[in-house]
Amino acid sequence: MRSVYLDNNATTKVSQKAIDAMLPYYTDIWGNASSVFYETGQKAETALSRLRESVAKNIGASNANEIYFTASGCEADNWAIKGIAFANKRRGNHIITTKIEHHAVLGACEFLEKNGFEITYLDVDKYGLVSPDAVESAITDRTILISVMTANNEIGTIMPIKKIAEAAHRHKVLFHTDAVQAIGHMPVNVSELGVDMLSLSAHKFHGPKGVGALYIRNGVRIENLIHGGGQERGKRAATENLAGIAGMAAALESAVTDLEKNTAHMKKLRDMLINGIRERVSFIKLNGPEDERRLCNNVNFSYEFVEGESILMHLNRNGIAASSGSACASGSLDPSHVLLAIGVPHEIAHGSIRFSVGEDTTEEDILYTLDVLPGIIDKLRDMSPMYEAYTEGRIKSFTCRK
Ligand SMILES: *Cc1c(COP(=O)(O)O)cnc(C)c1O
Repeated sequence: MRSVYLDNNATTKVSQKAIDAMLPYYTDIWGNASSVFYETGQKAETALSRLRESVAKNIGASNANEIYFTASGCEADNWAIKGIAFANKRRGNHIITTKIEHHAVLGACEFLEKNGFEITYLDVDKYGLVSPDAVESAITDRTILISVMTANNEIGTIMPIKKIAEAAHRHKVLFHTDAVQAIGHMPVNVSELGVDMLSLSAHKFHGPKGVGALYIRNGVRIENLIHGGGQERGKRAATENLAGIAGMAAALESAVTDLEKNTAHMKKLRDMLINGIRERVSFIKLNGPEDERRLCNNVNFSYEFVEGESILMHLNRNGIAASSGSACASGSLDPSHVLLAIGVPHEIAHGSIRFSVGEDTTEEDILYTLDVLPGIIDKLRDMSPMYEAYTEGRIKSFTCRK
């Protein structure tokens, strides 16, 4: 049986380049980068500085000291939000974000709400977009931070980050963006975007799991999230994961170098899949934008009258890996907060599947998926009481197209 991986928004396969970059830090230079009185430690420290410079360069940071390595994208998000909140609590207690952020951002905000902070969760439009005007209107003299993701992990919406950052700065408010899904899928340059903080995570762009980074512009005051030793210029304790960082730096270098080639490839396959599904399956709704504001690799449809989990099970039996909503939310019975925020009715939000193509996805993978999917949907609808109710005229359809 074919094996087709279409869940690249959940994680990506570690590239050979990343593995090759990591190995020497397990076999040879395994010293502690803080132990600089002997050779292996010194070598580790030298490597760490070089890797920091490489990551800085590849996201357009002007100084390597603006890169802080973390153990994940979730940690970077938590640090940005809680760290700014605690460092600025005398200035204000208000934070602005959106309803469709990743759970790392939403969870950190909910934690702060229980600790005296006020959070505005902005509505998004039917494509998942938040307008810079809406962000600006929500700013008060108590606002200390705005956090809006660069690109959404479920429906692929690319947010107008540069304009939102400008709005924030007009009011002297700090701006953070979760760019975890953006790296490798679109240009990401902290100087051009004008952001104060930016989160990234290696495993979303063919690096290893368990390593990420937070860009913090020089001059931004932020409280520590992890206390202990003096690593990361005293801002983040823990012995550095040098191998992981090397893997991330190598993966980022490839992501940036091959960006045009990879995004063109992914876009082609994405559109092949979107158009193919539209031709072959009825009663469906594409979630997210249909123009250049959609991530090059994201395909998210709601299929009326069927359950997302059932579709996934049948896809899996055919060797196809996809996802319903985000990996972190699956296992819960609530429909995706993102789909509800863009106004997808509960009934069809439950029947939603995300396919996310990758740089190593092939046309054959897409053709095979297009071959298999319609039969699965037909079979599930044949067994669906909702579909029966529809055919008997007892309920109406939410999706207009037959
Ligand atoms: C995956 C993801 C994260 C979390 O990154 P981890 O490294 O898995 O903790 C955060 N934000 C977005 C948008 C993501 O897609």
